[in-house]
Amino acid sequence: MPKLNLLVLPGDHIGPEITAAALGILEEARRRFDLPLEFRHAEIGHASLKKMGHSFSGSVAEAARNADGIILGPCDTYGYPPADQGGTNPSSALRLALDLYANIRPSRSIAGVPALAPGMDLVIVRENTEGFYADRNMFAGSGEFMPTPEVALAVRKITAQASRRIARAACELAVKRRKKLTIVSKANVLKLSDGLFLREAKSVAAEYAGLAVEHILVDAMASHLVRSPQAFDVIVTTNMFGDILSNQAAELSGGLGLAGSLNAGDAHAMAQASHGSAPDIAGMDRANPSALIFSMAMLLDWLAKRHSIQRLADAATLIDRATLEVLADPALRTSDLGGPLGTLAFAREVRRCLAKPVVS
Ligand code: NAD
Repeated sequence: MPKLNLLVLPGDHIGPEITAAALGILEEARRRFDLPLEFRHAEIGHASLKKMGHSFSGSVAEAARNADGIILGPCDTYGYPPADQGGTNPSSALRLALDLYANIRPSRSIAGVPALAPGMDLVIVRENTEGFYADRNMFAGSGEFMPTPEVALAVRKITAQASRRIARAACELAVKRRKKLTIVSKANVLKLSDGLFLREAKSVAAEYAGLAVEHILVDAMASHLVRSPQAFDVIVTTNMFGDILSNQAAELSGGLGLAGSLNAGDAHAMAQASHGSAPDIAGMDRANPSALIFSMAMLLDWLAKRHSIQRLADAATLIDRATLEVLADPALRTSDLGGPLGTLAFAREVRRCLAKPVVS
């Protein structure tokens, strides 16, 4: 069987630490399930800036285009120089170049792990290619500009096509889960742009019989998420609202260190933790690698469906379960969850759990 090629981009600060930890687990899964995977590594971010003067090179973009899947570590995007001085955001460059339009961000409370909101299990489906993110809205030039030193403007883009396809991705997920879709917008103020998003999302959702559909304004949604996160199943929204609400949901479910995510398009997918590069704990062996491990499991599942390889799905399920099992033991957690273990020791426990014989 031909091998599937995964491109590994470790990113900045805690990125290399959690990527090494997560890859150790993937290596164990490859051995156990005889997975047809091979890895290629490339540098992005500060490492690439230092050596080559840019944070994301054309050769990395090309390697990503040729890969079957990508594992992206968190990047210090805020710390890069402006784009014209080499500071490209690898995450947005990859989302655009590979048309990774759906950012799937699950948040579930985990048995035994203290959470602000126990019993929640929801997925935020965030549009990834337009919206308030001015860096991806223009054919040429920047979507942010300053007509005078005292005035800054940004272009927000919403299209019917992007709204329809993100709504479809959310509906497809919702019908396989608890069959409830919540559309989130600010259509009361952004009447044209979010009005368009809402119109298209509702029209796609109407094609799915048996799906309960509701619409909630984003400010009210921030309250509902805190008050009753258990009431939600699949939430679909535009780019920035999805980014913010998913961090809120992650924190409610136990913390950012648990927040996995997949960026998926029709032909490519990229595993990427929802959190950033955490400079405050970089190099201390303190980062929780769970978010990237869960993201990797989501990528394996996506590859399983795309290539019809059942053992990739089996490996994804087992990685997910092994991580949950280790997290359930307070003595085996990382310090963000009040535990005593470092990044590598935690990953070793997940590996050990993965290697155990399955008792049927
Ligand atoms: P952050 O998500 O990096 O950190 C926020 C807080 O959460 C910090 O206290 C950090 O220590 C903690 N944290 C995050 N991940 C953790 C983990 N795995 N284990 C334990 N604790 C964890 O947010 P920030 O500090 O605002 O951003 C740092 C950099 O990351 C910035 O340059 C920002 O632009 C970038 N960023 C990148 C991504 C991405 O690549 N997907 C996402 C968000 C932020």
